[in-house]
Amino acid sequence: MAKIQWSIAATEALKADGLRIAELDTAGTPGFPGDKKAGQELLAERAEVLSSLQERLYANGRSGDSRNVLLVLQGMDTSGKGGIVRHVIGSVDPQGVDHAAFGVPTAQEKRHHYLWRIRKALPRGGQLGVFDRSHYEDVLVVRVHNLVPEAEWEPRYDEINAFERELVDAGTTLVKVAMFVSLGEQKKRLRERLDRPDKYWKFNPSDIDERAYWPAYQEAYQAMLDRTSTDYARWHVIPADHKWYARLAVTELLIEALIQLKLDWPPAKFDVEEQKRRLAES
Ligand code: ADP
Repeated sequence: MAKIQWSIAATEALKADGLRIAELDTAGTPGFPGDKKAGQELLAERAEVLSSLQERLYANGRSGDSRNVLLVLQGMDTSGKGGIVRHVIGSVDPQGVDHAAFGVPTAQEKRHHYLWRIRKALPRGGQLGVFDRSHYEDVLVVRVHNLVPEAEWEPRYDEINAFERELVDAGTTLVKVAMFVSLGEQKKRLRERLDRPDKYWKFNPSDIDERAYWPAYQEAYQAMLDRTSTDYARWHVIPADHKWYARLAVTELLIEALIQLKLDWPPAKFDVEEQKRRLAES
C-alpha cells in the first residue's frame, strides 16, 4: 500500500517566517497528515533516500567538490537534539558525517571570539556537518542569563548573519532547525530521566532551574528566529513533542537541501573500459 506522504514540502510547512513560538502547537505535525505508524513507515523509506544522497555528497567531496551541508540543531533541554543525531544522522555513513557539540565554553574557548570554536568545527567539502547547539547559544543562554552585557550580545545577530553569508558563499548549505517541546512534555522527559537508571546520565539538576527561565528563553528564541532567518539561511521550527515527527521532519529537510545541490555521481577519473580489460587480464 502506498505510504502517506507530506501534503506540502517540509521546508514550507516548517518555515519560521512570521511564526510566534508562544502560539506554536508543539504536539502538531505540520505538513504530515499521518499518525505515528505512518510517520515511522515513511521515515524508514526516507532514511534510505537521505543515505543515498549523502553518499553522493561524500563521493563528490572526495572528488574535490567543496560544497557541504551543515545541520544546525537548537532546542531546549529534552527537545530531542540527541535523538536527531542518533536516529537521523545515524542512518547515514559515519565517514561522511562531521559532528560537533557545543557546551559551556572551555577556559581556552573563553579567551577567543565566540565564533572561534565554531569556525574550527566547520565541515569540510562533501561532509554532512551537524552542530548539536551552535553559535546561537551566544544569543540564547548568554542573553537569558546576561553572561555578557546587552551591548555585547546585541550586535551578534548581524554578525551571525554575516558569518553565515560567508559560509554559504563558500559552498555550505545551512539547514537550521529549532526544536520545541511544551513545558509539560519537558517535565515528562525529565521525570523519565529520573525514573530510569539508563537515563540518569542525561539528567542535569540545572535543567530544572532552567525551566523557570522558559519565558525568557521563548523571547530569546523568538528574537533569534526574527533576526537570523535569512533567505540564504532560513530557520525551520519543529514541533517536537512527537519524536517520530521531529525525526521525519529533519530527515525531509536534509533531503530537500541535498536535492537542491543536484548531485550526480562524480565521473570516473580513469578509462573504465581500459580498467575492465586490465582487470580481466589480471
Ligand atoms: P546537553 O545539555 O546538550 O546534553 P552539555 O551538557 O554538554 O549538553 O552542555 C550544554 C550546555 O552548555 C547548555 O546548558 C548550554 O546552554 C551551555 N552552553 C552552550 N554554549 C554556551 C555558551 N556559548 N555560553 C554559555 N553556555 C553555553
